[in-house]
Amino acid sequence: MNEKELKSIFVEKFGAGGDIRTYFAPGRVNLIGEHTDYNGGHVFPCALTIGTYAVARKRDDRVIKLYSANIENVGVIESSLDDLTNKDEYHWANYPLGVVWALIEKGCEIKSGFEMCVWGNIPNGSGLSSSASLEVLTGTVLNDFFGLNKSMVDLALVGQYSENNFNGCNCGIMDQFAVAMGQKDHAIFLDCADLSYKYASVKLPNAKIVITNSKVKHSLVDSAYNDRRNESAQALADLQTVCGISTLGELTDDEFEKYGSAIKDEVCYRRAKHAVAENQRTIKAVEALNNNDIATFGKLMNASHVSLRDDYEVSCEEVDFLVETEWSVPGVIGARITGGGFGGCTVAIVENDAVDNFKNVVGKAYKEKYNLDAEFYVVDIGDGAKRIG
Ligand code: ADP
Ligand code: MG
Repeated sequence: MNEKELKSIFVEKFGAGGDIRTYFAPGRVNLIGEHTDYNGGHVFPCALTIGTYAVARKRDDRVIKLYSANIENVGVIESSLDDLTNKDEYHWANYPLGVVWALIEKGCEIKSGFEMCVWGNIPNGSGLSSSASLEVLTGTVLNDFFGLNKSMVDLALVGQYSENNFNGCNCGIMDQFAVAMGQKDHAIFLDCADLSYKYASVKLPNAKIVITNSKVKHSLVDSAYNDRRNESAQALADLQTVCGISTLGELTDDEFEKYGSAIKDEVCYRRAKHAVAENQRTIKAVEALNNNDIATFGKLMNASHVSLRDDYEVSCEEVDFLVETEWSVPGVIGARITGGGFGGCTVAIVENDAVDNFKNVVGKAYKEKYNLDAEFYVVDIGDGAKRIG
């Protein structure tokens, strides 16, 4: 599928003519800084060249028609500007409808209905943020068609607001921010406490970013995500009895050492330990990258995995097996779980001439152990969401 083919599907579903426009929003991978966004820490994601495409046109009435070429069997989903509520029958379209709702909540005037066909090449539910891609894509379409004058950061916030309040997932800002603000060949060093950010050039002349999809997704993902948020909040509340912080991201490792005993519950202690250390690792990793010290960057990725596995406990057997196998492959500079956890993808930095062997060794070991076919994506870093036609 390409954007031309998507346009012919649009015409087939909704007819030709009028002002038909095309848009793209990327997926994202987080290189380091996991589960730090909602803890007031730093993250370091980059937008990918894979993503979600939309072909769209305004209507004269208040009807909204949505079609995904990825989910043909649900057909065209029809809603209206006058009935923006989350409904099971809207299926995947609750994501774009949530964005329409959120924009209106934020005071934007959506003057008419519209029709939109989407198609994406991000594996869904694997931690590469297909949902944020779809949200920011929808925001970009509406911003353009209705002259809303929203900045890309605003569109990221609107996407997060819709996912939190319309779709019931209490996600942080990282995903939407990376999708909206991505820049080719750069990762975004984002301070989630105040949304200040810097781009860091990711030039890896001798290495590639390789994502491995475990193809597993354990069902506890949503409830466990909310548990982690609550446990982190409890740890913060305990720490606030002994030091004046407003987020875990404000603490250094030494300060955590000093004040950590204030956290009463052992599980909450480990959650906070991860949040603090991961934030510090992310700061160090970006420094290392800026100094072209990829080896240190890789070691920090490995340490991130261990912390997510043992302290934050958001990995799973299959992903641990993948990462541990990846560590053993010659030419692997660093590897870790990426995304929310409990399945999904790993991200590794692999020397150019080691990539084929990496895929063979990891793919074969995983197949032997779990009888699953891991999928590999050697990715490029691309731009954020935009109109393309
Ligand atoms: P992730 O964001 O990690 O990919 P989520 O579970 O948060 O996983 O989001 C996946 C959901 O997003 C899908 O189940 C689907 O509802 C929606 N989605 C993403 N991309 C598309 C698409 N191209 N067409 C239709 N729905 C999509
Ligand atoms: Mg998502």
